[in-house]
Order: sequence, then structure tokens, then C-alpha cells
Amino acid sequence: MKPDQSELEAVIKRFLADPDYRDHPVTHVLGQLWQQHRELLNRMERITRVSDVYQSLAREREMSLSERFDKQLRQLEKVARISDRYQHMMRDLNLALREASTRDSLTGIANRRLLVERLKAEVERSERQQHTFSVAMIDIDYFKLVNDQYGHEVGDTALIEITRVMEAEVREYDLCGRWGGEEFLILLPETDVATAAGVIERMRDNIRTLAIRVGEQTLSLTVSAGLAQHAAGESYSETIKRADTALLAAKRGGRDRCEMA
Ligand code: GH3
Ligand code: MG
Ligand code: MG
Repeated sequence: MKPDQSELEAVIKRFLADPDYRDHPVTHVLGQLWQQHRELLNRMERITRVSDVYQSLAREREMSLSERFDKQLRQLEKVARISDRYQHMMRDLNLALREASTRDSLTGIANRRLLVERLKAEVERSERQQHTFSVAMIDIDYFKLVNDQYGHEVGDTALIEITRVMEAEVREYDLCGRWGGEEFLILLPETDVATAAGVIERMRDNIRTLAIRVGEQTLSLTVSAGLAQHAAGESYSETIKRADTALLAAKRGGRDRCEMA
């Protein structure tokens, strides 16, 4: 049977300490072996200790790395959420700004800026695709009298109600906008002047029969219109100018009518 480690060590220690064997040649060799064995054990203990320390250090570092990673991930997620919200806000704000800068505040229809934008685009498109378009300038007849007789508020209501009829009458791809005061411009893409006249006459009929409420009474208004078809090579303002001249002719001809340039 093999003696266990401590028994063997005790035997060797006793043997080396025994004065009877002090000068025996085996004692000298055994002493050297014993010494080497002790040194080897010490070295192994040191290595084990170093390895333990290293392992626990590595574990600690790994843990704190993953913790740091988690923390940074959470921070990044938070930043991403804030950035998302900010982008949504910017988009809404941009839409609201665009809406405010292109809509007439009283009637909600396109304002002059949007009309000009679309007119320029329409001129370019018609040149590219060799299409034409028409514009109608519409002006309410004797509108100053409405303000004078019923007040500015009734005048505003009349503008809003007439605008509603106009919007209901234009086709999906037409654009109806407020050019200024009681004057409106309607852009009719890919439409010749004869077709445009049909749209505008129907619109004028519906405005004429509109009953605008003023307290117990109702009020009716008429509009005059001037139409022009865009000619190749013309600028949008030249087309509008011709529509304006036609409108002037309609006014001079007695109002409540439509003239073509
Ligand atoms: P005509 O038949 O020649 O067009 O006569 P008119 O009275 O309509 O034309 P005029 O240019 O003499 O007067 C236009 C009036 O429209 C004067 C102005 O006070 C009024 N007006 C312009 N914008 C508004 C508005 O936003 N609200 C109100 N209530 N009135 C407006
Ligand atoms: Mg007028
Ligand atoms: Mg006018």
C-alpha cells in the first residue's frame, strides 16, 4: 500500500534527522531531493495563487465590462428615443410651418405664395410635356358695399362661404387660392380655356345662388371672372396679366360674367 503524502514526508524528515544515518551517502542525496521537492511545492503554491488572483481579476473586469456595456446601451437607447421624439416634433413643426406659410389664414385655401409656386411648376411642366393650362381670375362684385352695409365681419363670412363653393366646384387637380383681398385665382392644369370656362360658369352659378346669412336676412353676391390659357413660351405672370385684362373687360361689361382672353 502506498503511504499518503504526510506519512511519507514524516518518514523522510525522521530519516534525515536521525544521527545514525547522518554520514550515509543516501542521506545526502535524499536531503537534496527533499530540498527540491520543497522548492517545487512552494513554486506550485505561488503559481496557483497568481493564477487565482488573475482569474478573479479577469472575472471582475469582464463583469464590469458587460455592466458598462449595458449602461452605455441603455444611454444610447435613451438618446435614440429623444432623437426620435425630436425628429417627430421637427417634422410636425415643418408641416405646420409649411401649412401656415402656404394657406390663407381667413379662408384656409392656398395663399398667393402657394399659387405662384404651383404656377411656376405648371409652366415648367407644360413646357416639358407640351401641355397647356388655364388660369381664372375671379373678383367679387361690389364687395366694398358688403363691408360698408353689414360690417367687416359679415364681409369675412361672405369670403369664407364663397371660398367653400369655389373649393367644392374645382376638380381634384385644380388649385383654388386667394390672390389678395376679394380676388381669387384658379389654376386648371391640362385644361384649355373653353373647358375652364365650363368649370368657372358652373362655379359662378353656385355662388350666385348662395344665400349668405346676415342675422334674419340673407345676402347674395356675384363674381366676375377673366380666363386665359397659357401660351407656349409665356411666363406665368404674362398669362395672369391676360386673365386680369379679361377680368377688367368682364367688370366693364357689367359684372356677373366671365370673359376669355
Ligand atoms: P368691383 O365690383 O369693382 O370689384 O367692386 P368692389 O367693391 O368689389 O371692389 P373694391 O376694390 O372697390 O373693394 C374691394 C373691397 O374688398 C374693399 C376691401 O375692404 C374688401 N376686402 C378685401 N379683403 C377683405 C377681407 O379680408 N375681409 C373683408 N371683410 N373685406 C375685405
Ligand atoms: Mg371686387
Ligand atoms: Mg378686387
